[in-house]
Amino acid sequence: MFGSRLGDDGLVGRLLVVEDVDPGNIDGCRPLATPMDTSDSWIMLVERGNCGFVDKVRNMQASGAAAVLVGDPWYDLPITMYASGDTSDVHIPSSFVARREYNGIREAALDPSGGGPLLVRLVRNEYYELPFLDVLFITILSPMLMMAFIYVLYRLRLRQHRLRDLAPTDFVHGLPTKTFYRSKYRDGEPDECAICLDDFGDDDELRILPCKHEYHVRCIDRWLTTRKKFCPICKQNVCPSSESTPLLPPRLRSIV
Ligand SMILES: [Zn+2]
Ligand SMILES: [Zn+2]
Repeated sequence: MFGSRLGDDGLVGRLLVVEDVDPGNIDGCRPLATPMDTSDSWIMLVERGNCGFVDKVRNMQASGAAAVLVGDPWYDLPITMYASGDTSDVHIPSSFVARREYNGIREAALDPSGGGPLLVRLVRNEYYELPFLDVLFITILSPMLMMAFIYVLYRLRLRQHRLRDLAPTDFVHGLPTKTFYRSKYRDGEPDECAICLDDFGDDDELRILPCKHEYHVRCIDRWLTTRKKFCPICKQNVCPSSESTPLLPPRLRSIV
């Protein structure tokens, strides 16, 4: 989060382990006793701990390093090196290396059979260019996605439960109807809709439920398909086996 970024070609330099050039200085928390010759590019490997990341990089920059690798001796987890305060004085690139990589690089750099400092190329890893977005995704977006997923599941289950309590529209439309005429009305027959409490009038379309109770088509259809699949008067289920054959009206179901 400080210093310069690597260019497209990366950075080529000779890798040095800090304690190898400055005995006793393992973490880069102080500048090298003798600054490096800056006619060559030096990439300094220092160990994590004892001071801030930016302090290590500042000290190595002051000692003539072209780049710094900070190695973690404890954990295999790559992290982003943060720094507080003004870091505009830091102009060299630096990178964090987790334990396994650190140990490998360190071993190779200290190998006496290598014949002098290792020549290495640091390259840009686009994936780690966006640590902030990674953190944002892990801490905020993924819990939000999880919550949204759970909410959708909850709504789907709720909908399923609701649908189980309702009569399918096609089924309701298959129930018999008749037209009401006051001239044909006989005493004792119901002449009012128990849903809207209006008297039946001439030419009113009535729906006859299996229990023989009658209602305005518009009233009972809405009741059965949006509220309950039970007759409002006697509570009988109008489609008792709706779960197995929900789309068949009673006449057809008896044939099946
Ligand atoms: Zn009605
Ligand atoms: Zn009824």
